[in-house]
Amino acid sequence: MGKVVSNPAALYIVATPIGNLEDLSPRAARILGEVAVIAAEDTRTTRKLLTHFGISTPTTALHEHNEREQVPKLLEQLRRGESIALVSDAGTPLVSDPGFHLVRAARDAGIAVVPIPGPCAAITALSAAGLPSDRFAFEGFPPAKSAARRALFQRLAHEPRTLIFYESTHRIVDCLADMAAEFGAERESVVARELTKKFETLRAGPLGVLADWIARDETPRQGEFVLLVHGAEERAGADASEAERVLDTLLESLPVSQAVEIAAKLTGQPRNVLYRRALARSSPDK
Ligand code: SAM
Repeated sequence: MGKVVSNPAALYIVATPIGNLEDLSPRAARILGEVAVIAAEDTRTTRKLLTHFGISTPTTALHEHNEREQVPKLLEQLRRGESIALVSDAGTPLVSDPGFHLVRAARDAGIAVVPIPGPCAAITALSAAGLPSDRFAFEGFPPAKSAARRALFQRLAHEPRTLIFYESTHRIVDCLADMAAEFGAERESVVARELTKKFETLRAGPLGVLADWIARDETPRQGEFVLLVHGAEERAGADASEAERVLDTLLESLPVSQAVEIAAKLTGQPRNVLYRRALARSSPDK
């Protein structure tokens, strides 16, 4: 029979450190010690954290491949009055991590779901990036394949909010190159690497410069990354449709490259977007 935190039982969603173990909150440590079981993305990773804090609560695996089978079992345990904590390998569960199905099912079953807030790489990066932060859009991991990734960035090219992405070590070079191509090499951006760890780096600059930096140097490629991109400038009277109108007018009397150059200067729209529009306009299929 497991320990009971409160009656009725609750599902605690517990944020854990993203590198620096001092970032586990005292409340999180207490809850992890009190619940009947900890549902963990990787039980070995979580065991290291628990051992560090002298916590001996049993763990059970809950990851993307077994979440649906685990949910009924965990709900049954909650109904018996045993509280459960959900953790992921690092940071806040459900943020690009498993747990959605469990939280949804617990809420549907009328079980209390209690968030225990703490580290999250996206918010940690945003807080120190120096980019506008009143409004932002978290996009998680971009698609692994370049064509899908570029299509996503094209759709986001006019998004005015600061954009936040997660990216893995082995795709960071290609991802930044695609960002520079689609958002424009001049777009302000920040690479946040190894946050809260020994080699923590936050580097700001135009996308083109950061893409070059990452591509040339082996060292900064290692580790975990958050990429932040300044939102598109909102310029009065020069939205996308206005830019297209200007471009179309210029194309009537100028070659594509010149028309794109002038339209970009007049409207502030990215050259690559205008260039694509110009090509589509001159192609008989489009
Ligand atoms: N749930 C986590 C959170 O709250 O941030 C995110 C989990 S997601 C599977 C892992 C990704 O988060 C990494 O690939 C990286 O993009 C980002 N990340 C996690 N820890 C990080 C760190 N210390 N520094 C930079 N990025 C980190």
